[in-house]
Amino acid sequence: MLYFGKFWENIPECEDRAICGHCGVTETFEHIILECGRPGQEQVWKLAKELWAKKHSNWPPLSLGTILGCGLAVFEDEKKKAIPLAARLYRILITESMYLIWKLRCECVIGRSGEPPAENEIHNRWVRTINERLEIDISLTNEMKFGKQYSLKPAVVLETWRGTLENEGNMPRNWLRQPEVLVGIASKGSQRPLPPSSRSSSDDEGVGETLSPTLSHMRRA
Ligand SMILES: [Zn+2]
Repeated sequence: MLYFGKFWENIPECEDRAICGHCGVTETFEHIILECGRPGQEQVWKLAKELWAKKHSNWPPLSLGTILGCGLAVFEDEKKKAIPLAARLYRILITESMYLIWKLRCECVIGRSGEPPAENEIHNRWVRTINERLEIDISLTNEMKFGKQYSLKPAVVLETWRGTLENEGNMPRNWLRQPEVLVGIASKGSQRPLPPSSRSSSDDEGVGETLSPTLSHMRRA
């Protein structure tokens, strides 16, 4: 259940929560993830597009329809042939970015009394989120652990992320067992991107949990 906008209008002493404290309009899901002027959504989508552009050119214009329908997206080359696993990377970037925007919004509104996160914090949270997702993908190729039926094919993970990684030119063709594989957008304020293992344990919990129990569950797996 997502609590925002009109939901609050009938809750005594919480009526003001129906209105976006930053923009002064009724807070809808579309407003939160695409329109809100509070630092967060615009920067997150820019980063998602930047990583996508490292290997693909056709980033669909963002709308509620393309975001909620990201699982149906198909990407084809000029010969109308499906680009291998482009749709998978797109789905990952859209769902992870959307969930992060929701979490940032909830933290700001509920946990920080409306104080928005700093630009560097938003940037680093997104980089960490995508690196964690990459880490999950890599760990899911472990056939010994997950079995043939539930593990991911190495080729699926390699092709999904190929062209988006840091220092990729110096890595072997199969980088799944490399010690530290990170996406090619660096964190700010440190020389190297934050490895997934340095994340705070509290980051997977909190007010945004309800939107994506599957992803949260996977992160704890
Ligand atoms: Zn707003």
